[in-house]
Amino acid sequence: MVSYSGDSKLTLPTYFSIMIVQKFGGTSLGTAERIKHVAQLIQDGKKKVVVLSAVSGTTNKLVEIVNSLYRNEKEAVDERITQLEAEYVDLADALFGTSEIKAKAIKMLENHWTHIRSFTLDMFTRFEERSILAQGELISSMLMQLYLDECKVQAMTIPALDFMRVDQQGEPDMWYTKSNLERIIGENDEIELFITQGFICRNHFGEIDNLKRGGSDYTASIVGSAIEAEEVQIWTDIDGMHNNDPRVVKNTRPIARLTFDEAAELAYFGAKILHPTSIVPARNAGIPVVLKNTMSPEKPGTIISNEPSGNHIKALAAKDGITAIKIKSDRMLLAYGFLRQVFEVFERHKISIDMITTSEVAVSLTIDYDGDISALIEELRQYGKVEVDRNQTIVCIVGHMLQSEPGHAAKIFSSLKEITLRMISYGGSKNNVSILIDSEYKEQALKKLNKGLFNLEG
Ligand code: ADP
Ligand code: ASP
Ligand code: MG
Repeated sequence: MVSYSGDSKLTLPTYFSIMIVQKFGGTSLGTAERIKHVAQLIQDGKKKVVVLSAVSGTTNKLVEIVNSLYRNEKEAVDERITQLEAEYVDLADALFGTSEIKAKAIKMLENHWTHIRSFTLDMFTRFEERSILAQGELISSMLMQLYLDECKVQAMTIPALDFMRVDQQGEPDMWYTKSNLERIIGENDEIELFITQGFICRNHFGEIDNLKRGGSDYTASIVGSAIEAEEVQIWTDIDGMHNNDPRVVKNTRPIARLTFDEAAELAYFGAKILHPTSIVPARNAGIPVVLKNTMSPEKPGTIISNEPSGNHIKALAAKDGITAIKIKSDRMLLAYGFLRQVFEVFERHKISIDMITTSEVAVSLTIDYDGDISALIEELRQYGKVEVDRNQTIVCIVGHMLQSEPGHAAKIFSSLKEITLRMISYGGSKNNVSILIDSEYKEQALKKLNKGLFNLEG
């Protein structure tokens, strides 16, 4: 029985509260062996929704097909699809033991390739593009369901396109997701194992859309919040959030606990293990998020929750592709309304600002936007002289109560004493110090901070 309290708040039946959400990323599904391993991991007797990404590399290949289609390179499109097709025939060969299920998988895969091949440039828009990008998750979930069928494990695929929707602003439509999941799960009470696709959703027109690259984490958090899950688990290829970017720095170590705010800062400022906004729905619903390693499930990973996690510096992350904009104006002196006018220009262009610093005569800010900004710059010129620096990186140092403990800032800046710092943001929140540097110094900065803050070599 479902009860409703208020206009948009649904109270879920009690059995929902004992569910968990487990999300498996692309590398966790990269080979037949790994898919089999995930199929084992999800059979732990807990009622759950399993959110699957596309097999690793597939979304990138679909993006390449889309780009070739836009360039009208018919042969390249055909070659890329044929290559993908061959890879999945190999995967199906290695995954399935019975010829009947294997034949079923091959037949279903063929439908996906036929769909992708049906597009040509003269009828190719963003809508068709998004439909192609959705195929990776549709395929991985189909393969998992068939493998579980083969193993005689009872599971049910619940299509994300039936319950996951974003609104006009691209924000998750929580009411829609919640009420549809409630209905679907409620109607299938006997099922313990639900499988769904990460990343894909519908937009407010009802068209196929997605939650941006890496968005399966976001799906997991939205689903967790919608079903008021006990826990959201993000299973990936590393044993939790590390103190520094393991792609850049050799010696990094996992962090046992983070608060939601700390994890949100790290994700937003470049820790790829989490999609930038994925923490928000779980945080709003107070549901712990646990980061786990599929290859080493025995490792504790990282627990992200509301629990205090200690007053020290936890980790740092770096976000590339940043553009710094400085607006210098004598009119700024004692002029009220100046900042509002500048911000309104950004608002009109729908470009969000990450960092901001001010002085008597200038304001500097950063944006993470790879589109054309010439119109924005032109408009800003009416307020003063505008300077633009591209190829910048924000290094974000995260910890709890960063400003209330003396000595943190001194440690950070002495670690970076050989590097030119372009902007510093300190005091914006209790959790974060952000520093803007030229991207060419990123590796050096991350290594120096690894030594200075964590006593770990680069
Ligand atoms: P998945 O395919 O499972 O979604 P991702 O590649 O998106 O996995 O995220 C996991 C990767 O994130 C790791 O392999 C690691 O290289 C990268 N990463 C970047 N920063 C961090 C960090 N601070 N801690 C852990 N992993 C990180
Ligand atoms: N498959 C999508 C991507 O590669 C979503 C995800 O993996 O989270 O971006
Ligand atoms: Mg990811």
